[in-house]
Amino acid sequence: MALDRFGRNIHYLRISLTDHCNLRCVYCMPEDMIFRPNAELMQDDEVLLLVRLFTSLGFDKFRLTGGEPTVRANIVKLVGQIADTPGVNSLSMTTNGVSLSRLARPLAEAGLNRVNISIDTLNPENFRRLTRWGSLEDVWAGILAAEEAGLTPIKLNAVIVHGYNEAEVTGLAKLTLNNPWQVRFIEMMPFAGATDLQIRQMVTAEQIKNIIEAQLGPLEIVNGGQLDGEARLFRIPGAAGDVGFISSVTEPFCAACTRARLTADGRLRLCLLREGEVNLLKPLRSGANLEELRQTILDAIWHKPWGHGLAEGVIPLNRVMSEIGG
Ligand code: SAM
Ligand code: SF4
Repeated sequence: MALDRFGRNIHYLRISLTDHCNLRCVYCMPEDMIFRPNAELMQDDEVLLLVRLFTSLGFDKFRLTGGEPTVRANIVKLVGQIADTPGVNSLSMTTNGVSLSRLARPLAEAGLNRVNISIDTLNPENFRRLTRWGSLEDVWAGILAAEEAGLTPIKLNAVIVHGYNEAEVTGLAKLTLNNPWQVRFIEMMPFAGATDLQIRQMVTAEQIKNIIEAQLGPLEIVNGGQLDGEARLFRIPGAAGDVGFISSVTEPFCAACTRARLTADGRLRLCLLREGEVNLLKPLRSGANLEELRQTILDAIWHKPWGHGLAEGVIPLNRVMSEIGG
């Protein structure tokens, strides 16, 4: 078991499989983003070895993210190999959904359990403005393909950006009326790359909830207000699905954190919003033995920071969001 010095059992690993992406969302990266050469990224055998190491330390829940995980070469094969690793009890993916109409079924057959799909707007023009390069139609087809392939329950992630998509909050929430989906509104967090926009145009979870309630009436609390992962869940009365709020900035859930992150270039990042990282790929490539690597991971986890420092104005600027994996 990997414990940190605050007694939290860290057993959930989010792996960024690549920093590359086929979109350029305004809140995530600059349009002229330069990606790392593939040789600097973890190769398939390195990912698999690290997954085995983490399972040996009690990690049982894994999420593949990026950048865009589906642009990684041989993604279906890699998913199958991770899913087959003893100790991997839950394997999910966060994706922009663009390629899911093609990949949902093969990924499900390879052993992927669930997907979170990002969709910030239901308006095609707004979608293009927010993602710069994307087509809403592709993502919508991807959502339906994921549901058909059984990658359920479907969770949809929406980042609300002032001046872009606040007006669509209620429309997104209404997707839950007839679909058993979870639509989760994520507060925009500040990183390098788009820091000014991330700070200036952030909309809080409370503001988003107020917009929905002003139009649809009070939301019902789900699970007595307990967190579901990082989301606090509500329901439009009578709806088939839930509306979630992820208030990482205004109401952090650090006390309940059970996760660590592996960046695409093989650094163990202990907190999404803190710069501290421990390089695992370098010792792996220079022949460290597995026991040494296990100890490095355990030490790093022991020193996981309690939480982020956004309230004190501490913003992590060493990476853009897509390199860390959301
Ligand atoms: N490309 C995939 C996607 O978009 O779903 C996976 C990677 S993306 C970095 C993971 C999640 O982080 C997405 O839901 C995205 O909307 C969210 N995200 C990106 N930048 C963010 C930011 N600055 N603050 C909050 N969430 C952000
Ligand atoms: Fe790509 Fe996801 Fe970042 Fe959008 S949020 S640019 S889809 S990594």
